[in-house]
Amino acid sequence: MHELSVTTHLLDLALDHAGTATRITDLHLVIGQLSSIIDDSVQTYWEIISENTIAAGSKLHFRRVPAELLCEPCNLRFPFNMDDFMCPQCGNLSVKIVAGEEFYLDSIEIECAEQQPTEAKREQP
Ligand SMILES: [Zn+2]
Repeated sequence: MHELSVTTHLLDLALDHAGTATRITDLHLVIGQLSSIIDDSVQTYWEIISENTIAAGSKLHFRRVPAELLCEPCNLRFPFNMDDFMCPQCGNLSVKIVAGEEFYLDSIEIECAEQQPTEAKREQP
């Protein structure tokens, strides 16, 4: 169920950003390694809820972001390891997660009906 509300929000956001576009073709999403979002579920919901919108048939691209920890005493950022939270530099355990829990819409690709790039016209041989 969580994915459904997330996906609905995603569609609102994409439609909002699409402006006067006639079609949304691609969406680029970022998912942290520790995020509980399941991309397959998002994909499934997406196909259902984007139907009859300008985002129908668009592709979802997921980019996984590795998790990172920050050692608060010495400020070192290091890769998250499920078995060992200890700072490799100072041995402290006062660490917090600074990356890996995110889920957001990075960018969208759109098509506009009357898109006529002026650049192309000048390139006549
Ligand atoms: Zn440290």
